[in-house]
Amino acid sequence: MKKTSDKRHHVVVVGAGFGGLDVVNGFSGADVDVTIIDRRNYHLFQPLLYQVAGASLSTSEIAWPIRYLFRNRQNVQTLMAEVQGVDVGSRQVLLDNGSTVGYDTLVLATGATHAYFGHDEWEPHAPGLKTLEDAATIRGRILSAFEEAERSNNPAERAALQTFVIIGGGPTGVELAGTIAELAKDTLAHDFRSIDPRATRVVLIEAGPRLLPVFPEKLSDYTRRALEKLGVEVALGAPVTDCSADGVIVAGKPLPAKTIVWAAGVQASPAARWLNAEADRAGRVLVRPDMSVPGHPEIFVIGDTAASAMPDGKYVPGIAPAAKQQGQYVANLIKKRLKGKSVDEPFKYKHQGNLATIGRSLAVIDMGRLKLRGALAWWIWKLAHIYFLIGVRNRLSVALSWVWNHSVGYRGSRLIMRSTPQAKRGPAELEPK
Ligand SMILES: Cc1cc2nc3c(=O)[nH]c(=O)nc-3n(C[C@H](O)[C@H](O)[C@H](O)COP(=O)(O)OP(=O)(O)OC[C@H]3O[C@@H](n4cnc5c(N)ncnc54)[C@H](O)[C@@H]3O)c2cc1C
Repeated sequence: MKKTSDKRHHVVVVGAGFGGLDVVNGFSGADVDVTIIDRRNYHLFQPLLYQVAGASLSTSEIAWPIRYLFRNRQNVQTLMAEVQGVDVGSRQVLLDNGSTVGYDTLVLATGATHAYFGHDEWEPHAPGLKTLEDAATIRGRILSAFEEAERSNNPAERAALQTFVIIGGGPTGVELAGTIAELAKDTLAHDFRSIDPRATRVVLIEAGPRLLPVFPEKLSDYTRRALEKLGVEVALGAPVTDCSADGVIVAGKPLPAKTIVWAAGVQASPAARWLNAEADRAGRVLVRPDMSVPGHPEIFVIGDTAASAMPDGKYVPGIAPAAKQQGQYVANLIKKRLKGKSVDEPFKYKHQGNLATIGRSLAVIDMGRLKLRGALAWWIWKLAHIYFLIGVRNRLSVALSWVWNHSVGYRGSRLIMRSTPQAKRGPAELEPK
């Protein structure tokens, strides 16, 4: 295992998400050794996860092997390992197999996961959408629900199987609700004989007063109306107080549903605990203006794991462009330091806008003075996402899948993967492509 030595400066980056990749890319041609560690062997484009859950895209269209991405970078070593802690005294990262990796500079970009507001027991009934495994599990549950409804003779059971509840009215909840409604009412409309997929109920539940709270109120209203036109029932100001295998309790009333998806809370990775650093309520490390950890100029935390204050006192939002900008900033800062230059320029976040898609030809965009909705916003959303995908092959593949889906409503990833033949609606395996 690599150790710090008296040779080149060694930067260890933990997490090959949006932030981590941009740190490593920032060291292209630099006179440093870089080790990137991730518990998975791939980089994941999370913004399109809901399309895997909704059977529009396959897993390999939105993920890339990390080792492949850095195959031509001789100064970069890729390690697949779960980081379990950091010994800040001896400057070692602690891995799951008991080994350690020494660093001169450490960048933690380990992202976030879902939070159940103290109700972790809800997770098996209401999986969140954060990983490819989550997306494949949710897709398997959605498709299996239709299959089970087709062979059920019990009307109440059928109704519960054809009811899909999404908890959380942020972009992920809105996108999931729209895609499940379209899957049921369009893609699957003519494929069953005993049930009518168009009679499916999709219920989007939000505890707050409106959908997409980071968008202006007019776009939130538009989103609600657009979803309702797609047949989604939107429940606002409706807190969920229980989740079980039978459904949810919402606003005090039971709602029977066999498929529930969690798109509500977010909790940062445990980096603050590893460092014994101060964190906010979501577990994000309270970083200095240069993204370093107080008392540790050699450790940086970026992306969804960092609470980085802006001049107005708010924190930088947990979105991909913010993580990427922080990654680029930190790589530049480290390079300048190594050249002996003083760096007193703090990280400045440039907000490029908020985008969310609702359904086919329906999206909302808020770019400050430019606010768009409907088909034009949807095309911009599509082009932006294709632009940010890595590599020509994936761009073409995703574009083709979308054209197919848009023109004939076909979804190519409508596969239910089971680990064993007798498995019921349990976690799905990932499909090969
Ligand atoms: C469903 C969904 C939809 C989204 N849609 C959008 C969108 O439309 N637009 C947008 O801008 N943002 C969107 N986001 C948010 C965006 O994806 C995140 O803000 C962004 O990924 C944060 O980047 P990051 O580098 O901090 O973390 P991530 O991209 O999450 O990367 C973290 C990496 O760290 C690794 N890791 C974590 N813990 C460990 C460990 N202990 N050891 C080793 N490796 C570890 C993980 O495997 C992962 O590869 C979405 C997020 C989700 C979940």
